[in-house]
Amino acid sequence: MSETVRVRFAPSPTGDLHLGNVRTALYNWLYARHMKGVFILRVEDTDKERSTPEHCENLMDIMTWLGLKWDEGPRVGGPHEPYLQSQRTELYEYHLGRLKEKGLVYPCHCTEEELDLERKRQMGRGHMPKYGGKCKKLTPDEVKKLDADGKTSVLRFAVPPGEIVMQDEVRGEVTFPDDQLGDFVLTRSDKSPTYNFTVVVDDALMKVTHVIRGEDHLSNTPKQILLYEALGFTPPKWAHLSIIKGPDGQKLSKRHGETSVESYKAKGYLPDSFLNYLALLGWAPKSGEILSLDQMAAEFDLTHVGKSGAIFDPVKLHWMGSQYLVKMSLDDLTRAVLPYLADAQLFSREQARARFDWLKQVVDVVRTSMGCFSDITKETFYFFSDELHFESAQSEEMKAQKPLMEAFHKAFSGISEFNGDNFLQAVREVGKTAGVKGKALYHPLRLALTAREDGPELVKIAPLLGKT
Ligand code: GLU
Repeated sequence: MSETVRVRFAPSPTGDLHLGNVRTALYNWLYARHMKGVFILRVEDTDKERSTPEHCENLMDIMTWLGLKWDEGPRVGGPHEPYLQSQRTELYEYHLGRLKEKGLVYPCHCTEEELDLERKRQMGRGHMPKYGGKCKKLTPDEVKKLDADGKTSVLRFAVPPGEIVMQDEVRGEVTFPDDQLGDFVLTRSDKSPTYNFTVVVDDALMKVTHVIRGEDHLSNTPKQILLYEALGFTPPKWAHLSIIKGPDGQKLSKRHGETSVESYKAKGYLPDSFLNYLALLGWAPKSGEILSLDQMAAEFDLTHVGKSGAIFDPVKLHWMGSQYLVKMSLDDLTRAVLPYLADAQLFSREQARARFDWLKQVVDVVRTSMGCFSDITKETFYFFSDELHFESAQSEEMKAQKPLMEAFHKAFSGISEFNGDNFLQAVREVGKTAGVKGKALYHPLRLALTAREDGPELVKIAPLLGKT
């Protein structure tokens, strides 16, 4: 029988979850489901300054909102508790002790300034910066003296010589040449263990079989492989996912717009549409682009994850969102957009209760243009406003068409109740008299009625206008 697949998502609770984090969580979740394995949530909260319990709770709330349930981890427990690194100190101490016994670590008293100088010198000579190993040569007496003098120290792992070759499920064979890795730090001067050490201890003890994470951790992998060997643990399989880039090809960041999942939740994206979009950032399912979580899980495989960087495209996310919104019932969608209209002070909950059928018709007219619930405000504000605010170019255009606008005004004031037919008839008559048709006729009218350049057909809008 083959071994049960065990994967983990290991976020650091130092801020809002980022799109890239969630794609990593999703691929782990999908792989676990596909392989009928176990999905673990482990919280890497060893950075005492930046990790907070609030961030930790938030990230679990977001995972729950997304529907990415974890089989083991905080809130649900599991056989390898605790799942918060801050509560696993004794385990790290124990395994550090094993490395000490084997003589594989040594204290380093170099100061930040000394290390900085060393780095600068190496870079000045065009070399990759790495720790030169000065403190490895200290005798036990010298170490004792430095300690007695109150000099703080970190513990470094003595990197053995030799190149490191690894197989990556996404990137294929990756070789790390000999002599590139300096002796790296396992515990800081306050004795707290570093990421590279805790991650290996935890992944090994939690019996993680596949480490699926962002490519930004690829350079940590040789260090972790060495620690697996030093501790006598079997390394997992590795899969490093390409980073997500912005439309300009640079690493996705705030410059490109919202990057926290929280903000997409606040905008009113449906979690399934959001995950569906993220799933496509690096994976091309064979059965088309729109898939439920279950369908994705049935199809997902690491061998079909691409190694070239995926581009985050807000336009496509919007499109994906709209594919899910059109599937909602009109009643549900209308109820879902209500808070956004109320928050924007366009239409109160009381008004909505009194005019629910009308509101439903308004929502129906614009629903195909919406990617998320909050889009309702920009798509419909003109239905709720007595006075519209025009851009100066819009005002210019209407001014230039003054006789036409007056003719519309006159024609419409003769109609007591609009419907599609009498609206169209009035517009056509105005056009005929003025000798204008097509865009020249409809565009100024659209501006006057909606203060927008585009939108649903006017014949659908007009009967619903002026009724708030
Ligand atoms: N805490 C690390 C991060 O959030 C986890 C990296 C890993 O998956 O090994 O980047």
